[in-house]
Amino acid sequence: MNQSLAAAFCAGATRRIFPSLYALFFLLLTGPACGGAGSADLPDAMPRNAGIPPVEGPPGTAQLVGSAAELSPTAEHLQLTLVDVGQGDGMVLTFPDGTAAAIDGGPDRFAAYRDFISAAVKGGMRLETVLLSHGHSDHYTGLTTAIDWLPKDCGARVFDPGYDRPDVPGYQSFKGAAGCRYRAFGKGMSLALYPSVRIEVLSVTDMPFPMADSTGINNTSAITYVRFGRFALLLMGDAETEAERSLWNARKDSLRANVLKLGHHGSCNASATSLLGSVAADYALIGVARPNDFGHPHCQTINKLQARGMHWLRTDSNGTITVETDGEKYAVRFAMGSPDDTRCPRPCSSAVDF
Ligand SMILES: [Zn+2]
Repeated sequence: MNQSLAAAFCAGATRRIFPSLYALFFLLLTGPACGGAGSADLPDAMPRNAGIPPVEGPPGTAQLVGSAAELSPTAEHLQLTLVDVGQGDGMVLTFPDGTAAAIDGGPDRFAAYRDFISAAVKGGMRLETVLLSHGHSDHYTGLTTAIDWLPKDCGARVFDPGYDRPDVPGYQSFKGAAGCRYRAFGKGMSLALYPSVRIEVLSVTDMPFPMADSTGINNTSAITYVRFGRFALLLMGDAETEAERSLWNARKDSLRANVLKLGHHGSCNASATSLLGSVAADYALIGVARPNDFGHPHCQTINKLQARGMHWLRTDSNGTITVETDGEKYAVRFAMGSPDDTRCPRPCSSAVDF
């Protein structure tokens, strides 16, 4: 097993589910490694994904219901919140036992992400992991402060695609805050942050894209696929056409998800028609401010969502958005407005599609 994976497992899941057979199996295989999460002598002999329990039912087939009151009161619940952070993405994935992963932290210009995390921690949430999709400030800035709420150990708790930006002080602040807890994602990695939730890293670039510009860094985005029972969620980071095409070519028949966090804030150089078709999501989520300098979401993207008959929620129109699921059913709620707001600042002049 990859050292980071073992450390992540040891840091989180083991103590929650022990002494289940699953944890016992893992401990037998890893021996004393869990006693020193993050230690350098962890064996690297196990296949990736070992110890990850199978998910029941076809992913992406959970039933959409009108409100969280229709979810099972006795089943475990998983929750994703897309915080209204302005122009950027800031999310929190909360597991059934109250532990959580921060996934991107927005630009945090108005401290909305920091305030959300702070209130949630006061309410009992325990932030144990931080995942950064890629090294842009509208994603990493809020995470730098979120890291303060992580346990003060040296386990594998902070992940990103591993594309360093030594010339960008903000990114270095993020990495510096992570310290010894930092690890790079590996392609195909699964994170065992909670026994019944599978988080797969579908895309981490092998540097096939031009790296010195914005598009290149967007295409380094870690695309994550979260499965919980029949519910599935696909988080695209700021992936643009090149990364989408690579993902689609690799696994177009296994991308089905109920909810899709669109790549690159609804830009016309993301959310390709073929990708939308394979994911076949009911709902798209967009992290975006009104107004913004980029014209997001572009009108071409809104048109594609409409053409597919999808619904969508966007933080500029709907505020903070939450998706909650019991694994069989799921519900969405939002702070304001109505779904499917068609307003778009402008079409872009260089739309790309496949
Ligand atoms: Zn972005």
